[in-house]
Amino acid sequence: MRQSQIFGKTLREAPKDEVSVNAKLLERGGFIYKNSAGVYSYLPLGWRVLSKIADIIREEMNAISAQEMFMPALVEKKYLDATSRWDVGIGFEARGKKEKSANFVLGWTHEEVLTAIASKYINSYKDLPLAAYQIQTKFRNELRAKSGLLRGKEFIMKDLYSFHASESDFRNYYEIVKKTYLNIFKRCGLKTVYTLAAGGDYTAENTHEFHVLCPVGEDVVFVCLKCGYAENKEISKLNAGGKCSKCAGKIIKENAIEVGNIFPLGTKYSDAFNLNFLNSKGKKESVIMGSYGIGLGRTMGAIVETLHDDNGIIWPEFAAPYKFHLVELKNSNPVVKKEAEKIYKTCLDKGIEVLYDDRDDKSAGEKFADADLIGIPTRLVISEKTLSKNSVEIKNRKTGKINLLKISNIKNDKSFI
Ligand code: ATP
Ligand code: MG
Repeated sequence: MRQSQIFGKTLREAPKDEVSVNAKLLERGGFIYKNSAGVYSYLPLGWRVLSKIADIIREEMNAISAQEMFMPALVEKKYLDATSRWDVGIGFEARGKKEKSANFVLGWTHEEVLTAIASKYINSYKDLPLAAYQIQTKFRNELRAKSGLLRGKEFIMKDLYSFHASESDFRNYYEIVKKTYLNIFKRCGLKTVYTLAAGGDYTAENTHEFHVLCPVGEDVVFVCLKCGYAENKEISKLNAGGKCSKCAGKIIKENAIEVGNIFPLGTKYSDAFNLNFLNSKGKKESVIMGSYGIGLGRTMGAIVETLHDDNGIIWPEFAAPYKFHLVELKNSNPVVKKEAEKIYKTCLDKGIEVLYDDRDDKSAGEKFADADLIGIPTRLVISEKTLSKNSVEIKNRKTGKINLLKISNIKNDKSFI
């Protein structure tokens, strides 16, 4: 992509109305645009990051036999009436202009909707287990929407639901999802802790959350320094400085961002929607369910909160919008421009993801500042100086390490790709 043509521009100053680091850097970098408090548009650069995160999630979900589908954002009252969740104060009601009262809510979660669908197709133990997920916008009337992508009034969530014939089959899958989630966050460049937590408006049982330790996180968790066991303050009996109940290691208290949450649902939803199956002896039983959420935007925000420096974002490899940032410093030398164009074309031909700073009206200093702000992992600089050595300068955004790379290697060297 040519930077001269990209929809969205870098900004020198952070917007005055933003307080969070993720919103400031993402808006300055041209990744997102704030439409309203807690309501953001993803500009092309930001959408690439979000799509990378979605790709990782899809790959990991498909690998555990979860099937992707897509459900409506308009959720009719009858669904939430069945579980007495219509009056939960989380949602936005959706009312036709000419209607006096709302018969729909904008979906803030989809347990009811999917359970109703599943009751049509699950009849026998042979139909189980089953797991289905979607990546979709959720709507919640968040009153404290001041944390950029960490807390939106609308946000993109991956929600997975699983259906099982027995508690042991469910527990087995829950452990598989746990491992998969840890892997997803690792691939997104995040270190997470697995936290015992409350069930909120979903279940009376305990649930598990995935937390990124970070001072701006709105959750408080107690974590064992030795074994990593963690509990959310909401339910914890642990104390900072005390001993871990599992290994007697030292407990610390930390702020944390909840990026994922998994829920044992038992038969609460299946009973509400008559989701039964005939077991192998022909006897009717309730289906056992679980649900599993990840906030994609919040994950993106958590990456920015934890991976940045004074100059800008430092994207981890697999969530980066592009692999390379090619910067040409032509100093009015047309040969530099010509060579830069050639390298750009080589990258495109090879399918290498590259953002090419071809802007003629920016100084070297401005280009470098923008490259640091945008935070692509590897910067390639071509200038008169590097060309005199038939090379480009290759700089690692994270370590700051600089090397020279022969231009011929860009065409030949597999390690470059
Ligand atoms: P919180 O306690 O932070 O309000 P929650 O526990 O209500 O979140 P869940 O219902 O567990 O959220 O949603 C699953 C996932 O969706 C969360 O782990 C988080 O990653 C994401 N998420 C939830 N609410 C928001 C929001 N307002 N903005 C962005 N992401 C969100
Ligand atoms: Mg949660």
